[in-house]
Amino acid sequence: MKVKLAKTAGFCFGVRRAVDTVYEQIEQSQGPIYTYGPIVHNEMVVRELEEKGVRVLGTEEELAELTQGTVIIRAHGVGRHIYELLEQKGIRLVDATCPFVRKIHRIAEREEKNGRRILIIGNAKHPEVEGIRGWCRNPSYVIESAEEARNFKAPLSEKLCIVSQTTFNYNKFEDLVEIISKKGYDILVLNTICSATEERQTEARQIASEVDAMIVIGGSHSSNTQKLFEICKKECGNTYYIQSLDDLDLKTSESIRCVGITAGASTPNKIIEEVQKHVGIKF
Ligand code: SF4
Repeated sequence: MKVKLAKTAGFCFGVRRAVDTVYEQIEQSQGPIYTYGPIVHNEMVVRELEEKGVRVLGTEEELAELTQGTVIIRAHGVGRHIYELLEQKGIRLVDATCPFVRKIHRIAEREEKNGRRILIIGNAKHPEVEGIRGWCRNPSYVIESAEEARNFKAPLSEKLCIVSQTTFNYNKFEDLVEIISKKGYDILVLNTICSATEERQTEARQIASEVDAMIVIGGSHSSNTQKLFEICKKECGNTYYIQSLDDLDLKTSESIRCVGITAGASTPNKIIEEVQKHVGIKF
């Protein structure tokens, strides 16, 4: 019996780095520790951190009320004013912004200085996009759909710099850029999509096509896990969606010779390892 575990299962580089940063801060223990927003969208991880004294700040108001402690910025990043606010208040800041996101902040700053207006392809309500906008000194544009791209209007004299939310779909990004390109603006297009999501999906599809049963681990509300499940289910009818080992009810049968495992971006390694061990022993 073989178990095939996806190399890309679980936390991406940026999320892993952010979670590790919180644990490092707990070890260094320099007073109260806060994360600005949950460090990862996984209740188990957040609860475990809370038990170790880490508090989640949900709003900027809560941040503004702090008088001491350390604030950890998560992988999505934040706008410049949050750095300034914490500096003014003398609150220690530990920056776990993913370097791929930080790069977009720098692009926004640089290209504005070069006289371009920033246009972000992404979801305006997503914290990452809010953070990128927070590095623009001038108002920026956000476009998420083909309709918005078609309706987009700016003075023709305006030079644009188009960047993307890191998790945006590449084909859709290309489509939207094409629509805007036809409008005659002077545009600079910088594809800032991170490949982590796509690599995870490609690997999941590949493994699911080779195994007799496939297990997808992740939170029930995690949209990237749901997408992984859909992809795997298409390749392997015998695909299971579980949040943790407790949910696993794998029907063992002689015909199952090989089981594949993958997991969404917010699934901790511990859960993946538990499932992997269990499947390995059971079969
Ligand atoms: Fe993960 Fe990529 Fe987002 Fe960084 S940019 S946090 S590596 S998905």
